Amino acid sequence: MSKQVPTREKMTTIGEGGKRFWLYPARFHGLWLKRRQIVAAVLILVFFVMPWIKINGQQAILLDIAERKFAFFGLVVWPQDFPILWFFVAGTAILILFLTAQWGRIWCGWACPQTVFLEHVFRKIEIWIEGDAAQRRKLDRAPLSFDKFRKKALKYLIFIVISSHFANTVLCYFVGTDQVLEMTFQPPAQNWGWFTFMAFFNFMFFVDFAWFREQFCLIACPYGRFQSVLLDSDSMIVGYDHNRGEPRGKLRKNQTQDKGDCIDCFRCVAVCPTGIDIRQGLQMECVNCTACMDACDEMMEKVKKPKGLIRYTSIANLEGRIRRFLRPRVIIYAMLVLGFYSTGTYLMLYKRDLSIQFVRPPGQSFTISAETTVSNQFHAKATNKTDKSYTLIPEVGPEFQVVAAHNPWVIPPASTATNPVFVRKNRDAFHASGKEKVVVSFMDAETKKLVFDLEVTVMGPSK
Ligand code: SF4
Ligand code: SF4
Repeated sequence: MSKQVPTREKMTTIGEGGKRFWLYPARFHGLWLKRRQIVAAVLILVFFVMPWIKINGQQAILLDIAERKFAFFGLVVWPQDFPILWFFVAGTAILILFLTAQWGRIWCGWACPQTVFLEHVFRKIEIWIEGDAAQRRKLDRAPLSFDKFRKKALKYLIFIVISSHFANTVLCYFVGTDQVLEMTFQPPAQNWGWFTFMAFFNFMFFVDFAWFREQFCLIACPYGRFQSVLLDSDSMIVGYDHNRGEPRGKLRKNQTQDKGDCIDCFRCVAVCPTGIDIRQGLQMECVNCTACMDACDEMMEKVKKPKGLIRYTSIANLEGRIRRFLRPRVIIYAMLVLGFYSTGTYLMLYKRDLSIQFVRPPGQSFTISAETTVSNQFHAKATNKTDKSYTLIPEVGPEFQVVAAHNPWVIPPASTATNPVFVRKNRDAFHASGKEKVVVSFMDAETKKLVFDLEVTVMGPSK
């Protein structure tokens, strides 16, 4: 395939006739790469280790969609708590707006799993087996030989093993590590559903990292598509200093002073994983990976010019203005994030793991039996948001009686239960207003300790 020159008008990865133009990003070294490698190593470690960590017997992070149960470092969120989750979801959405407005696509370049695994795992393996850009291109163009088959087979075998480990770990977050382990040692026939799901994910991850690659960022990722509205002239970007670099030109002996610092070596283009030329200005395809910063710094060092021709900057800086860190939009975002997160945290910390409500069935509010006892019927509805079972016995204050259909009342873990309950009082002792309040206490059947109490209004005949 002929050489594709990046332009702003069309995507570099779309070749003639709409065909995919395969990229061969070159190997490079530099300070930013070292920093990103450290961050990537920590993130990969956390990603693989986290599903094995348990807090109070509960997986540290679990997003069990099938069971509708989410766990975050000891805090368990049940479906009944989903309104609380809304505060965290809204806070996170605005946090993304805040981070992007301030630091641009820092997520894409440093922490996105697509970048972290592609650039720091899969690409590294590919370079290790097939060599740098020119060797990889040559190998792909060469006819099939034993050497080509050996290299490709080894590469894809390693890719399959890593993709499979990656997919299994993702599954641990959504199903639970214990269950994934159990299913792993069972024959597939026992878990056809999950087995198919797993095989599909293994395949998808493999295809993504082996073939789809930068296309995910360019055409599939919704976050990437929103960049043009999320960034402003004060947001941090990876940018080329046009004033310093232009007019560009090859380095020659007896060079005149009117030349810019860019020696037009195309190293920044050669290392770019999305195949763009950052010298053409800010582009949607730029994932802020800093590869061109390292590549250009290396060249600047060689030609003894100051580093930073491509650097972390902002459009304001590049246009000679001072970058404003605090802007109204950023302050509003920060306040909203703080508001949503603190409200969510407060509700989460003070939520009751067991709640009981008394609901009156429609119809008669009270009955009088044998002309002596006023009786109020209720449906007691309990919601148990924990993973332990409760066994409760209802009690009421003096002069009242409580009779429950299920006594003791067992409320299984992570479920709701209903129990018909009658609260009774002697007619003669009933208040003249025909209305009294009484506290119904639910005691633990074994320890006799109070678990839950609520105030109930009891109706009777007025005098
Ligand atoms: S232009 Fe630079 S920072 Fe942007 S994706 Fe390409 S190499 Fe990475
Ligand atoms: S790496 Fe630097 S010097 Fe070379 S072409 Fe890119 S911007 Fe110019």
